[in-house]
Amino acid sequence: MHIFSSMESISDEKHSVPADFLRAFSGQDDARHFLWQAHISGRIASAYLFAGPSGVGKFLAALEFIKFLKCPNRSEGSPCNNCQSCRTITLWDNPDVFIIFPMPKSVWESDSRGKSYDDFRKTPHLRPAFGKSSAILLSMIREVQQFLATPATSDGGKFVLVPDAHKMNKQSANAFLKTLEEPPEDAHIILSTDRAEALLPTIRSRAQLVRFKRLSTQDVIRQLVDNYQFPPERADNVASIAEGSIAKALLVSSEEFQHFRNDALKLIKNAAEKNIASVWEWVASAHGQLDYAKSFVAALMSIARDVVVAASANGTILNTDIAEEIVHIAKRFDSKFDALDMLKNLSSLQMDLDRNPQYALFYGAIATVIIKAFEK
Ligand SMILES: [Zn+2]
Repeated sequence: MHIFSSMESISDEKHSVPADFLRAFSGQDDARHFLWQAHISGRIASAYLFAGPSGVGKFLAALEFIKFLKCPNRSEGSPCNNCQSCRTITLWDNPDVFIIFPMPKSVWESDSRGKSYDDFRKTPHLRPAFGKSSAILLSMIREVQQFLATPATSDGGKFVLVPDAHKMNKQSANAFLKTLEEPPEDAHIILSTDRAEALLPTIRSRAQLVRFKRLSTQDVIRQLVDNYQFPPERADNVASIAEGSIAKALLVSSEEFQHFRNDALKLIKNAAEKNIASVWEWVASAHGQLDYAKSFVAALMSIARDVVVAASANGTILNTDIAEEIVHIAKRFDSKFDALDMLKNLSSLQMDLDRNPQYALFYGAIATVIIKAFEK
């Protein structure tokens, strides 16, 4: 296929990418090389799919790439960051760059370019938290089509950015497909997602795939210090459990997350001690908000992962401050495979939650998985 052959052909030319091209993404060599080749060949595709784990900078890399392409004063590998074009792109205020991202219908209708855009711009590794489930809506795609109907106001073309592109509902995906099939001249669409498999195959096949990977722990630390003003020691602690994702680092470093983790630890301890009534009490009282459910399951997964490590005596426990309790829980398992089963079952529930946020059922399902895990 086209993409693989181009990836092969550039592998021996890696030295030719200027060091300052997408410098902030130095860990993403494949993506940098792919985009550099597109640039020097003068063939910027009408659609790209930036795919890879969440929180590794796919969206920011797209924005930086656009800034580079549109900057009239760029050096060989980087935009000037000073001209009108660069400054307005940084502020999400450039007339040739259009950004849509998932939000609940009610927010889009009442606040279409307001607070949620500001929140996202300030913390671009995370999407703003909404209490309700969010989607890329048909009305957003209609605006994209209107945006693309007029020519670019400056050189370099027009760009549409769609982070979390897998969150298009059926109607918006179908409407969007039309735009991808017949893109206006000079229009470029950059989709990004951590769940490429959830996109319509017809959409996937019309975009060139650009792969992103997990960041190194060193990269996570550097970005937390540079971009989010973390004291180095705190960045160090957080990066160890962030699994190469800035989004995860930001999530686990919040005070809230500590609450979730305490709740999750309590739940798993109760199940391990066969204190079943308490587990079901938790189900009845658990919070009916999507954000809560997501953060809770993230905390639970981080503990369950450590329990597997402790049960198999292989690897490093990441939640170091509660390591003793984790080892204690792990001892309740006869076999490391039981612990692993629990982790796998929780992971599939976590994916379900993304698709179908039914909190009440979700908490019950978690309780069932955990109780069963310790039954054997
Ligand atoms: Zn510039």
